[in-house]
Amino acid sequence: MSNFVWCHGPSCHKSHTQDRIRGVKGSKVLRTKKIKQVNTEHVNFYNYFCSQGCYNDFAHKYVREVIAIAPRTEALETPIDVVKEHARDWRGNDYMETKIIAVDNNGG
Ligand SMILES: [Zn+2]
Repeated sequence: MSNFVWCHGPSCHKSHTQDRIRGVKGSKVLRTKKIKQVNTEHVNFYNYFCSQGCYNDFAHKYVREVIAIAPRTEALETPIDVVKEHARDWRGNDYMETKIIAVDNNGG
């Protein structure tokens, strides 16, 4: 028994590719692509979309619904230290390098 889902791209069935053509002469159609479910343990968007393009089409069409799942109402912040260090480029010239170092406030 084959385990598959249909591509969720809203325009998948409108792409002019030979692998979407179904039916007999006189009543041919372009059909949404099937996606075989092979790795259901590590699910990602390729389990539901045949291509990056179909994924983008879906994301653009349903962006409000997707954002509503986990809305960002305030900025997130990562504690850092900014350190200036002497460094040397590939020609041997000295310059000041700015390094951003993550600070773990929870670990002390
Ligand atoms: Zn598709």
